Amino acid sequence: MKKMKHVKYFSLTDLILESSNVSEFRRHPLAYSLSSIEPYIDKETMDEHYNVHYKKYTENLNSAISEDGINVVMGENMEGIKKILREVDLYSNKLRNNAGGYYNHFLYFQGLSPDKKNPKGNLRKAIMDKFGSLSNFKKKFTEAGLSQFGSGWAWLVSKEDGLEILTTPNQDNPLMDPMFRGEIILGMDVWEHAYYLKHKANRKAYIRDFINALDWEVLENRYNG
Ligand code: MN
Repeated sequence: MKKMKHVKYFSLTDLILESSNVSEFRRHPLAYSLSSIEPYIDKETMDEHYNVHYKKYTENLNSAISEDGINVVMGENMEGIKKILREVDLYSNKLRNNAGGYYNHFLYFQGLSPDKKNPKGNLRKAIMDKFGSLSNFKKKFTEAGLSQFGSGWAWLVSKEDGLEILTTPNQDNPLMDPMFRGEIILGMDVWEHAYYLKHKANRKAYIRDFINALDWEVLENRYNG
């Protein structure tokens, strides 16, 4: 597993998420305001999602860790939560759901930007190699998001043989698969709470808006590791 080097890109405040100075998991601080992802994702949805759902996953993760009696060794690059995800079959369903919910939402909110950005560099090249064009990637990723029945996530992951699109149900995450060898580049929440206030039942319209709001610099950084 390649080491993720968030240190290169993210500010000091991000690093207190996991460090020897904190004893519980905290939400990732947003690098933008709740209204700044408009018109793609509306302020009310962002507020509910960040301040209610993500907050609840974080609180329930901390209580599940305490209930399961786990000693978590925090790391500056999210090693603590990633270790839990990789060995999640050892733990309770409450811990599985909330560890996934916590890390998935960290990836989700970190991957959005108020500034219009486009794929470039190594990640753009990898997308071209695998999908032929950016528009074909967006088409395949949209299809994956639409194909996930009920609540779940669509993922773009990087593996030894190139990029791959995956889906998982509920708050599961690719790291929970013991056979998974790779890095997560992009996670798209397709739970209704991620879009219902604005898009109602139109998941496809939400996916289009979500893709428009991506922070491709963050994704490129994850890809480069
Ligand atoms: Mn969510």
